[in-house]
Amino acid sequence: MRRKITISELVAAAEQRGCPIWQVVLEREERLQGTERQDIWHKMKEYWMVMKGSLDAGTKPGNRSLSGLVGEEGALLTRYIEKTKPLSGYGSVLAAARAMGVAVVNASQGRIVAAPTAGSCGILPAVLATVAEETGAVEDAVVGALFTAAGVGMVIDEHAGTAGAKSGCQAECGSASCMAAVAAAEMAGGTPRQAANAGALALKNFLGLVCDPVAGLVEIPCVKRNAIGAGVALLAADMALAGIESKIPLDEVIQAMKEIGDAMPASLKETSLAGLAGTPTAREIEKRMNEID
Ligand code: SF4
Repeated sequence: MRRKITISELVAAAEQRGCPIWQVVLEREERLQGTERQDIWHKMKEYWMVMKGSLDAGTKPGNRSLSGLVGEEGALLTRYIEKTKPLSGYGSVLAAARAMGVAVVNASQGRIVAAPTAGSCGILPAVLATVAEETGAVEDAVVGALFTAAGVGMVIDEHAGTAGAKSGCQAECGSASCMAAVAAAEMAGGTPRQAANAGALALKNFLGLVCDPVAGLVEIPCVKRNAIGAGVALLAADMALAGIESKIPLDEVIQAMKEIGDAMPASLKETSLAGLAGTPTAREIEKRMNEID
């Protein structure tokens, strides 16, 4: 049986050995799965290829979810930064556009990688693709970063859970943003400790976020939450790389997320009974959807 590992243990192991977190995660998987390292690496590379496909598809014009509620967001923001100097910086907005694009691919039943969930699938690939471009990282560095993100996701899943139905959107978009922040900071040359700080800075800002999908569809507010999740991850990584620390360590932020999720009412955990799903506009949309059915 797998022993639950913590972020501080991952960081300590990486520091002791003078290696990045991704290497600790990869070697642990090798031991636990009893699979050759190159096979595990190859599998992760395949996931990155699927992510790349969804990044390409998501930012093209003409996308539309099955319900028609979302579709062009990624393409619109991509066009915007082609013509305008964005207020929040080119990289952040590009990542946001990409994140929405991938989330729309999910809402259109296209191929994505749940990272950690389908609803939050845009954040991690969008951030990694953008950081790779900004830093000139090669593809293997992105695959390595995916192992770092996977290690963080595994810790969150084991200690708190990553399902909106269990702990709200903090556990989906919050976890994805946290995973992306840690991976981005490490990919950009940060130490394991800085990377963990980036994750804590990101996740803290999603605590309490409820899961309230309009009409029960993973579209509103999910697609746009992916955009903001990507932006938060990049900013958190920059803050950590600048030397800013989270006074509350990531393991404790994860524990706080669990406690908040446990205290959250069922009406705010993917039941579409309250929150944004309970607003008059959402009810109108729901009525229209039911009429189409
Ligand atoms: S609102 Fe709920 S369904 Fe949508 S991304 Fe967040 S957790 Fe997932």
